[in-house]
Amino acid sequence: MGLYKWQRTLAKPVSFKGQGVHSGKTVHLTVNPAPTNFGIKFRRTDLPAKPMVTGHFNRVIDTSLATVIGENGCIVSTIEHLMAALSGLSIDNAVVELDEYELPIMDGSALVFTRAIREKGIAEQNARRLYFIIQEPVHLENGGKSVSIYPDNRQIISCTIDFSHAAIGRQTLEIELNEDSFESEIAGARTFGFLHEMELLQFYGLARGGSLDNAVAIDEKGVVNQEGLRWPDEFVRHKILDCIGDFSLLGIPVLGRIDLCKSGHNFNHEFLKSFFKNKRSWKTTTLCQIANAVC
Ligand SMILES: [Zn+2]
Repeated sequence: MGLYKWQRTLAKPVSFKGQGVHSGKTVHLTVNPAPTNFGIKFRRTDLPAKPMVTGHFNRVIDTSLATVIGENGCIVSTIEHLMAALSGLSIDNAVVELDEYELPIMDGSALVFTRAIREKGIAEQNARRLYFIIQEPVHLENGGKSVSIYPDNRQIISCTIDFSHAAIGRQTLEIELNEDSFESEIAGARTFGFLHEMELLQFYGLARGGSLDNAVAIDEKGVVNQEGLRWPDEFVRHKILDCIGDFSLLGIPVLGRIDLCKSGHNFNHEFLKSFFKNKRSWKTTTLCQIANAVC
């Protein structure tokens, strides 16, 4: 994330190989540069017509276990961590090609994607970047969960989680996002889950590729992974990572402050829909228009 005047894409294609966490299938993924005003689109190269689906909240068809998008018979699953990496690096335009329906989970975080894309380089493009500017606060609350958005001329996310399990407990983190803080503080935070739930998912044929190599697992005694946590509050950091991926589905970045309390993919998507519908609460504009400058 960060405040850039111009749209951005990758300087060169970047390829990855890994396993889908739910399918357990090996998948090859290439993130390619794309022209201005293209957005982020996913192309299934394993299907005869090589169809595409846009990474946009109105293409989301499921958020129960992972974020799944679909359009014209093209379904792509578990897009959230790659979307977070692209948003964290302020990449507006990319074509993501994959030869399976589910993206690879890598290490359960967005670090592998983030580092590889940064190493290959990011290119500025010849078109202004648009931002959502918050005109009035929006708040959504249900059953102890809440998401709010407030006007701010920075990109800030604050998040609170509260789990009864002592290994997690109550954690709060607030962060001002830019490319560097995203890579060093958020991108490496891994997915987490309770061991009995992961075992149940595997029993039902899901989480086939799930392992201690791509998730933090917790049992009644604490963290199961021998290497432990990457940060004591890795859990709340991962919730911020998920939020960045979810909000990137608005299509253009938000300039403002997002406050989350005990939210997850499902509730974040509820918020995105109500935010977008509430057209009095936002407008879209370029950085130059905000600064009232000639540029
Ligand atoms: Zn996640």
